[in-house]
Amino acid sequence: MNNERKDADRGDAPAASNFIRNIIDDDNRSGKWGQRVETRFPPEPNGYLHIGHAKSICLNFGIARSYGGVCHLRFDDTNPEKESFEYVDSIVDAVRWLGFEWKEADADYQYFASDYYGKLYEFAELLIQRGKAYVDSQSADEMRANRGSATEPGVPSPFRDRTPEENLDLFRRMKAGEFKEGEHVLRAKIDMASPNFNMRDPVIYRIRFAHHYRTGDTWCVYPMYDYTHCISDALENITHSLCTLEFEDHRPLYDWILNELAEAGIFTRPLPQQIEFSRLNLTYAITSKRKLLQLVTEGHVDGWDDPRMPTIVGVRRRGFTPESIQLLCERIGVTKVDSWIDMSVFEGALRDDLDDKAPRAAAVLDPLKLIIDNFPAGTTETCSAPVHPHHPERGTRSFEISRELWIERDDFNETPPKGFFRLFPGNKVRLRYGYVVECTGVDKDADGKVIAVHCNYFPDSKSGTEGANNYKVKGNIHWLSATDAVPAEVRLYDRLFKEAQPDAGGRDFLEALNPDSKRIVNAWVEPGARDAEPEQRYQFERHGYFVADRVDSKPGKPVFNRIVSLRDSWGKPA
Ligand code: ATP
Ligand code: MG
Repeated sequence: MNNERKDADRGDAPAASNFIRNIIDDDNRSGKWGQRVETRFPPEPNGYLHIGHAKSICLNFGIARSYGGVCHLRFDDTNPEKESFEYVDSIVDAVRWLGFEWKEADADYQYFASDYYGKLYEFAELLIQRGKAYVDSQSADEMRANRGSATEPGVPSPFRDRTPEENLDLFRRMKAGEFKEGEHVLRAKIDMASPNFNMRDPVIYRIRFAHHYRTGDTWCVYPMYDYTHCISDALENITHSLCTLEFEDHRPLYDWILNELAEAGIFTRPLPQQIEFSRLNLTYAITSKRKLLQLVTEGHVDGWDDPRMPTIVGVRRRGFTPESIQLLCERIGVTKVDSWIDMSVFEGALRDDLDDKAPRAAAVLDPLKLIIDNFPAGTTETCSAPVHPHHPERGTRSFEISRELWIERDDFNETPPKGFFRLFPGNKVRLRYGYVVECTGVDKDADGKVIAVHCNYFPDSKSGTEGANNYKVKGNIHWLSATDAVPAEVRLYDRLFKEAQPDAGGRDFLEALNPDSKRIVNAWVEPGARDAEPEQRYQFERHGYFVADRVDSKPGKPVFNRIVSLRDSWGKPA
């Protein structure tokens, strides 16, 4: 049995080929790491995860899984100001919901970079002692002015040649809290003339008198991301450190730091390898934590889990499935070319996942009364329909038909345009799973608005009976009986932004907000959907895929969110 087969059997994302797998296959052939594959997903707990992170999660956990390795969940939490346990918890929930696990019976691969503060500090002292780092006392403005430009090398700091003893003393006093923020920083001593700015003596420690959610006030010096990340990888024995393309220029620094610490005898070779891939950009969505936070704090949406938000909690509440997200990630693949993925690809993945899984039901979202004048008043009959048209083994659902029904307002048209085959005076249609009816007239209110449609039915035309074949009609509409239809709140969501790339070119993404992205209607649903459990999904026939809202829906009092319509009609004329 080959690997791909095994993956499919376990329900994992299939081992679609990508360049990262090729690197790992080469490493396994050469025996670089033995056969060990160890990856990590390293979120900073400063916000909720979004659909872009899902790509990184599926990639890192997916690779570990298919190579029989492990993936660490590492909280990259070295910015004291913005991190919190609320975010840690939300990340844990999101990764698990996506279908991945990092705790096993005998092992726990959850880590916090903040647990390495002691080691990171110790290694910084070592770099100082080896003449590879120095305390710089220039102001931030001076440092910026001396950085140089693309064509000019940087100007070395006047403090660059401090002795290791002097540096060590200053760094210890920084840690002891003797200086103010910004008074000194610790810099790696690399190359002020490097064409790569990241190598022009990058800052690796700064003073911050800030409370950290895990370490409290223990520290007043905090390590920078570039310094922390590679060391965390090496401490955890990560083999392949996968990150997004914007870190490509940071790779020389990643390698420099680990190499220096290997020279110092701290780490052994081979050292973890950073490999960059392109980030996921989804049209009509924003994948910047800062901007998502702004949407929440300024009240443009109803919270992190607003069903219009591209956060994992948002798409979950909207009704997307973990499988549809995995399918999306599989379909877009992993490359080194930045591109925009159309939202319709994500919606298509959801349809493909739910088409087979979701039970069918009827829902009338914009109800208009249909009165069957020749149906005996006060009586009902039972009609039945398959739970799923392609799975007879899933059984049938039943509902009543009676004299008064609900139909969709736009299934009737008093003055039908050419090609309109549904209800209009004199026309016959089939009431799906029921009878053929012929429209006889309408009732209007004082303003001329149609408030009820009248028809007669043909008692020998019931679906599933022999007589049904005697009627050939072009229209087939869904309906519910006023006797057993269940009232339900239905939330019709549309795209949050009017523009495909709301924040392109540095424009204010708030201006692209779609004012009509949420519409709530009082609808009728089939009796079987009355007791829908939260997160139960349906295909409401002719409408699309819907989910019982995981927060507000209660059995007996259902609230549904539209996940997607049946077809991709966005932006096309109705
Ligand atoms: P921040 O602006 O706060 O740094 P971030 O989106 O980079 O935000 P992190 O928590 O640092 O957030 O990201 C965790 C991991 O997810 C990183 O490895 C990052 O490269 C990856 N990641 C973030 N956004 C995307 C994206 N749009 N597509 C793919 N991977 C992403
Ligand atoms: Mg980041």
